[in-house]
Amino acid sequence: HGQLICVGTGIQLAGQIGQLSISYIELADVVFSLVPDGFTDRWLSTFNDDVRSLQPYYAQAGEIKNRRDSYQQMVDVMLAEVRANKIVVCALYGHPGVFSCVSHMAIEQATLLGFSAKMLAGVSAEACLWADLGIDPGGSGHQSYEATQFMLYQHVPNRCAHLVLWQIALAGEHTLTQFGTTKARIQILVEHLSQWYSLEHEVVIYEAANLAVQSPRVERIALADLPDARLTTISTLLIPPQQALALNPAMLAKLGISEMDLG
Ligand code: SAH
Repeated sequence: HGQLICVGTGIQLAGQIGQLSISYIELADVVFSLVPDGFTDRWLSTFNDDVRSLQPYYAQAGEIKNRRDSYQQMVDVMLAEVRANKIVVCALYGHPGVFSCVSHMAIEQATLLGFSAKMLAGVSAEACLWADLGIDPGGSGHQSYEATQFMLYQHVPNRCAHLVLWQIALAGEHTLTQFGTTKARIQILVEHLSQWYSLEHEVVIYEAANLAVQSPRVERIALADLPDARLTTISTLLIPPQQALALNPAMLAKLGISEMDLG
């Protein structure tokens, strides 16, 4: 009976994938992959003879194609194999279900059709970010948004927490057809953020290393300088807290504790 297993390959080649995920890749009849580079595809091929990249479903040079159509085609091609009663692995970089709709869509559809389908967690870009920057997100809490969604909807950042904006290089690109945004749109994002953060506030452009021999990119700049910064498809923006945590006196009173009781 066909089944679908979505696994994450992590961000760094070969070192951030779970043993169970590797076992499924070895077991699979066919592995579909969406990974950062050819190295990772070749590495996957050492575990399974039938690794097929999903990359060609994205718009190719000169082609205009909505990413939603690309995702639907990726889902369709995987489901066709599940329907043919194959064991299908969908190997996506990072965590397969974090800021990534393909595996969620494929699992939902396979389940609807009565096939068994599941997701195994992987190491996401954000997991690497906390490690490389030496930050415990639990220290003050954190919020995480897709940059364009953050702009288009009424999200309100908590200035006491870390704010992570994914796909920053696409901020304001609503058509889902381009792979980059414009300086003017980044400027609009900066103006939007300046409602909560000072323009001098230090933000971090972060790119985890894909290969063990590389170093992560950690570029600290003033918020105001973001429109001039080099942003790539793998850039993530971290906006550290602008304000210290503030105690909630009403809650302290309710709990019958004072500031002195806290460590
Ligand atoms: N599922 C992936 C995220 C896919 S969305 C994961 O779990 O990490 C794509 C976005 O992820 C990028 O725009 C960027 O914000 C982030 N990202 C991907 N690769 C990254 C890297 N090497 N370093 C930092 N962020 C990265």
